[in-house]
Amino acid sequence: LFESKLELVRSHIRSFPDFPKKGIVFRDVCPILKNPAALAALTDLFEEHVRTSYQQVDLIVGENLKGTTSVLMEHGVLMLPAVPPGLDARGFLFGPLLAQRLGLGFVLIRKKGKLPGSTTSVTFDLEYGQAEVEIQDDVVDPGQKVLIIDDLLATGGTLCAAWELLKQQQAEVLGCLVVIELLDLQGKNKVKPLPVFSLTHY
Ligand code: AMP
Repeated sequence: LFESKLELVRSHIRSFPDFPKKGIVFRDVCPILKNPAALAALTDLFEEHVRTSYQQVDLIVGENLKGTTSVLMEHGVLMLPAVPPGLDARGFLFGPLLAQRLGLGFVLIRKKGKLPGSTTSVTFDLEYGQAEVEIQDDVVDPGQKVLIIDDLLATGGTLCAAWELLKQQQAEVLGCLVVIELLDLQGKNKVKPLPVFSLTHY
């Protein structure tokens, strides 16, 4: 069953050579969204992973995201890093679905300038130039256990920046979830020792 779900996800990723520029093979996750069975399979696989890997932090007495004291089934808050400028925020597509399945809250990490209120930002290097990601200062509590989710791990620069932001908010980052990992770029090394769970590899 695991393998057939994985195959369903894998077969709905399209590859476009030389997009957005020459030499890049763009991995497109849009067909997953277009196919309900593939999207359900992807969410199932992430859900299974989180439930089996993070059981030790099952029950935490804490505050929910609205600030009301409550007992939550809280493996973590699922976090979504924004992608570098010029690329769409495709990670946002999968995070809320998974968060709902797990009964968890979901908060955004975005490109600078998109979030209202008091925020903190971190600058990081891209292949050409720099990017800046940002989080609202009141959406994560100190000590809160969080998972980061994104569509694709390339160099790991984006995940590192998200991790740094969350550390500044005193969150406890447990790991990262991605749909696709590009093995050549060794992004996993860059985010060490943070565990990265990737569904598919290229
Ligand atoms: P990085 O910071 O290098 O790990 O880049 C991660 C972000 O860039 C991901 O969130 C992707 O959305 C995007 N990205 C990088 N390379 C690709 C690619 N080959 N295909 C699609 N998206 C990519």
